[in-house]
Amino acid sequence: MLDAGSSSAHARAMLEGLREEEVASPALVVLTHSHWDHVFGADELGVPVVAHVRAAEYLAEAAKLDWSDEALDRRLAAGDVTQFHVDNVKQELPSPRLVRIVSPDIVFHESLTFDLGDVVVRVRHLPNDHTDDGCVIFVEPDRVLFVGDATCDSPTGAFTTALAVPLFETLRGFAPELVVEGHAGSVMSQSEFEELADKIRLVGALSSASAPERQRSWVSWAKRLTRTWPTWSTHSSPGSAAQQSRRDRGCFGQVRGLTPDTACADASRPDRGRPAAPGWR
Ligand SMILES: [Zn+2]
Repeated sequence: MLDAGSSSAHARAMLEGLREEEVASPALVVLTHSHWDHVFGADELGVPVVAHVRAAEYLAEAAKLDWSDEALDRRLAAGDVTQFHVDNVKQELPSPRLVRIVSPDIVFHESLTFDLGDVVVRVRHLPNDHTDDGCVIFVEPDRVLFVGDATCDSPTGAFTTALAVPLFETLRGFAPELVVEGHAGSVMSQSEFEELADKIRLVGALSSASAPERQRSWVSWAKRLTRTWPTWSTHSSPGSAAQQSRRDRGCFGQVRGLTPDTACADASRPDRGRPAAPGWR
């Protein structure tokens, strides 16, 4: 199983869906990254959890946190988390909430391969603007690439050429037939992905020829122009109010500015070199 869901209820809905489809329950779960909406259902699954070593560190930090409404509000007041984060946690896990954060059973550094006989699953760590513990998962021979949130923006709503351009070049190297994003409502075809990757590459070239203060926002601008992003869907289940909120807002909800000039106004926001606050995850 890829990612564990955002709550025990969400994980149970997934398991029930598998039963209805007469599909075997998962034997283990691989986390694409440590953000709460991808991991809070892991305990409910009751199977070994696989995660990148950095994700394991973040999960250990998150496990020490108080997840009550009061604690969430304190972290919001302190600027450690966003209103978006607090609202979604409260909606997905009504108070009083019990959050059980698992410690991964298997951790890895660079990559991991599961040989399942007819199917090979490759897991690869790829730092990106969204998080530095992000991993993508490639399934062969189907050539389906699950990118988790790697193609989403940073917690402060930015993309950078420094990370996004090499990310897309690496993703292109998988030669995927299908690309599945963690919050997208549709699957990207090979041609759609190639078109996007071509434009990100072009943006990288344009950006490198631009003044440094203009470089950071080029990628988000290009992605806006490149693709009309579908309605976001965090999960395949009918969804809670929190999930609907995420669909409405999407990963790009925090990206401001549709033109290079207005987007550049965001360049002052401190998102680079600063790990996201654990509570945001
Ligand atoms: Zn995420």
